[in-house]
Amino acid sequence: MTTESHETNNLFQMAQNQFNTAADFLGLDQGLRKVLSSCKRELTVNFPVLMDDGTIDVFTGYRFQHNVARGPAKGGIRYHPEVNPDELRALAMWMTWKCATVDIPYGGAKGGVMVDPKKLSKHELENLTRRYATEIALMIGPDTDIPAPDVNTDAQTMAWIMDTYSMHKGYTVTAVVTGKPINIGGAEGRNEATARGCQYVIREACREKGMSLDGAKVVVQGFGNAGSIVARLLAEDGAIIVAVSDSTGGIYNPKGLDVRKVVAFKQEHSTVVGYPNAEQLTNHEILELECDILVPAAFENQLNEENAGKVKTKIVAEAANGPTNLAADQIFQDNGIFVLPDILANAGGVTVSYFEWVQDLQSFFWNEAETNKRLHQIMVKAFAQVYKISQERKIDMRSAAYILAVGRVAEAALTRGIYP
Ligand code: NAD
Repeated sequence: MTTESHETNNLFQMAQNQFNTAADFLGLDQGLRKVLSSCKRELTVNFPVLMDDGTIDVFTGYRFQHNVARGPAKGGIRYHPEVNPDELRALAMWMTWKCATVDIPYGGAKGGVMVDPKKLSKHELENLTRRYATEIALMIGPDTDIPAPDVNTDAQTMAWIMDTYSMHKGYTVTAVVTGKPINIGGAEGRNEATARGCQYVIREACREKGMSLDGAKVVVQGFGNAGSIVARLLAEDGAIIVAVSDSTGGIYNPKGLDVRKVVAFKQEHSTVVGYPNAEQLTNHEILELECDILVPAAFENQLNEENAGKVKTKIVAEAANGPTNLAADQIFQDNGIFVLPDILANAGGVTVSYFEWVQDLQSFFWNEAETNKRLHQIMVKAFAQVYKISQERKIDMRSAAYILAVGRVAEAALTRGIYP
């Protein structure tokens, strides 16, 4: 999904190109490349929803599974008018690599409904979610495919999906989705997990680069779940959050923004624009500000051939999925910018989703400190493994993460063999 729809057409191609680079490094044979470069299952559903005014509307939804060689499929569900099959194929594939990067036993999936949820009442949104859950029930399940929130979906959406699935089964199946409210089997710390995982790998990157996070200048694009919490956590580490943006525009203060006050402002006004004591910039302009760490946390393809050459940062930490296109990736490499790739930098979310699923299956729950401790262990280990490959092979972190992840999935596929 992007503000420019022509770019979405290339998203799956971008994912396949990234995969091919890793497959070349690993010397994968052509047959295995074919298996790993396409989605295993693709379900499209057109389903009716009774609207508040008594009319019937028909919506299109999808659930795609990329690969399940290492375990059940895992991936978010997004609601957006521009959701499309190629975008979901890319996102499902990235989920496979992401789970393998942090070595959790899942494959990759993604789903979505073509809808602008802001135009629906809560009642209509619940109807849509419950019917969509019913339509994709033949794919999802605690042992098969476990959805989670993504853009424009949240804990309430997951509660409706869990309840709908459970009603069909006749008993409560908490482990069918993650990112649920805590009172019905959600995990302590899940809400902050993506941002916390991103913070952990940024700390590791700063250490390796001999940079101090204390006093580092940070720009965050996208002030939603991932972006606003990354901003807060990095500020707690002493970083100066000089600029943030949302879909309506950006705000900049070279002396630093008070993140908690920006969050409160956004809650009240539904935008960061107009926040006092800050210069108003466009969301393109904030990407080109001089800083130490740039965190894209909005959508795909935000860093591209048009703006990558103007980016003045030392580290790009991809909280969003696919924010850097192939051309920008090359420009960043040429300019010595250290990129923490999405499949590593935002893997904290799926890692704590995995913890939630494990807790649901065992009906035994941890506290937030336990969650954060285990998340820290996994993120630090994954960073170290990726960094080691990048140093040994003298390659960028994305290629290194892909080599690690694709290698793990290929190995699992080969060990299992081709059926029959
Ligand atoms: P969200 O809907 O909570 O936030 C998205 C934010 O981006 C909003 O503030 C929106 O206004 C802003 N935005 C949209 N277009 C923009 C633009 N052109 N310029 C600047 N800002 C813009 O979504 P989220 O959950 O925070 O997800 C953001 C990204 O992080 C997505 O790529 C998602 O796939 C990825 N991600 C999220 C999680 C998670 O747990 N939330 C996990 C992994 C990856």
